[in-house]
Amino acid sequence: MAGTAGHRHHVVVVGAGFGGLAAARALRDAPVDVTVLDARNHHTFQPLLYQVATAGLDGDDICFPIRGIFGRQRNARVRLGEVRDVDLDGRHLTMSDGTTLDYDDLVLAAGAVTNTFGIPGVEEHAFGLKSLGDAMAIRTHVLLRFEEADADPAKLTDGTLTVVIAGGGPTGVEMAGGLAELFSHVLRRDFPRLDVRAARVVLLEATDRLLGTFHPKLADDARRTLEAAGVEVLLERAVARVEPDAVVLTDGTTIPAATMVWAAGVRAHPLGETLGVELTKGGRVVVGDDLALPGRPEVHVVGDLAASPGPGSAGSDGAVAPLPQLAAVAIQGGHHAAAMIAGRLRGEPPRAFHYVDKGTMATIGRHDAVAQLPGGIRLKGPVGWLAWLVLHLVMLIGFRNRANVLVNWAWNYLTYDRASRIIPEREPAPFTQAPPGRATR
Ligand SMILES: Cc1cc2nc3c(=O)[nH]c(=O)nc-3n(C[C@H](O)[C@H](O)[C@H](O)COP(=O)(O)OP(=O)(O)OC[C@H]3O[C@@H](n4cnc5c(N)ncnc54)[C@H](O)[C@@H]3O)c2cc1C
Repeated sequence: MAGTAGHRHHVVVVGAGFGGLAAARALRDAPVDVTVLDARNHHTFQPLLYQVATAGLDGDDICFPIRGIFGRQRNARVRLGEVRDVDLDGRHLTMSDGTTLDYDDLVLAAGAVTNTFGIPGVEEHAFGLKSLGDAMAIRTHVLLRFEEADADPAKLTDGTLTVVIAGGGPTGVEMAGGLAELFSHVLRRDFPRLDVRAARVVLLEATDRLLGTFHPKLADDARRTLEAAGVEVLLERAVARVEPDAVVLTDGTTIPAATMVWAAGVRAHPLGETLGVELTKGGRVVVGDDLALPGRPEVHVVGDLAASPGPGSAGSDGAVAPLPQLAAVAIQGGHHAAAMIAGRLRGEPPRAFHYVDKGTMATIGRHDAVAQLPGGIRLKGPVGWLAWLVLHLVMLIGFRNRANVLVNWAWNYLTYDRASRIIPEREPAPFTQAPPGRATR
């Protein structure tokens, strides 16, 4: 279990998302050297990506350089690079440039990727919302469509100004509310000669309600609020295929639309598939109750990549439903993995992971949100929004980001303005900016 002669015990953390950051930071006083590996040079605060996509915040506000986070952690080093596969027996990783990296302990926290479910055209023509690149691409694409319609009034009614969002979960709901607000308050003023009322935001959900994991009353409130803001909510409608300028539904309806945002699902990062261990249907790695791989106490898997055992009872197949793919699950899992690594070095036995539910929230628009908290507490409207605001500010990494976000939110709130609507010189194509990995099943 000790590191190789002359070396301290080496812990490699793959992924500097919520889970990986929590693990690496919690090891700051442990007698180990930590390498934090990520394919990107920044941590992304994914819950606020929709605000970048809808011009409420800038990329810098919700992303933080990983080297900046670990600059003062003396036992940590940061390495930029994509892990291609893991050799569990040989205890080393192979990077996409062919180099290898040995570990004594490994924490895998590579997160999840957009799941297109193999629906034709999604990969080619829709935008995901998993990375900063995705969010910037949506924003640029939508702003350019408004510029086009401004130059050619015929485009007002041909779908150029229509955004279809697939998926009525929190991401789809937040995206729809944010876009409706951007259109009606900001772009209406930016394009005074354009009848912006013709711009449509259509939210598609395959089941009979929005926000499936929330209480039905909160879900109903969310639907009503979105509809009042001008969003067309279509329930029990599924996407059959996406074309460059239209979305075709399984019931045969065609919605002319130049923009489609795919918020209909994620699956675990494909790195899990390289391990040769048991995976769930969604590709999540099956771990023991201590979050380690069965029979491999030196490998922990946390966050969206892991099927962390939940508190629920076993289903008819004997399987316990895994914990949801949420930031709080990843953070607490990262802390637990770090505690297990440090404990094992002291000769302590592993302990089971116990998740403390912090609740779930979704904003619907200006001073409106729904929140479902532990103990059956449900908040909505301005109270829910305030709770959402405080929680996201507290969770944001780094004081500079917090201050920026607060100033931007105050500005947006008081002026109905959105400062972040610069169009870069070249428009990025859908799904081209999302290293690492994308699932198409
Ligand atoms: C749009 C959106 C909104 C969300 N809103 C909420 C919310 O409101 N509340 C909530 O609790 N959760 C929310 N979530 C979910 C939450 O963001 C995730 O549960 C959380 O990020 C999972 O953390 P993680 O550490 O497992 O993975 P991530 O945070 O995704 O981090 C994974 C990291 O691994 C890196 N990586 C991946 N593959 C490799 C590789 N091969 N080599 C090296 N590095 C790699 C990535 O670059 C990334 O930095 C949201 C997610 C999205 C997409």
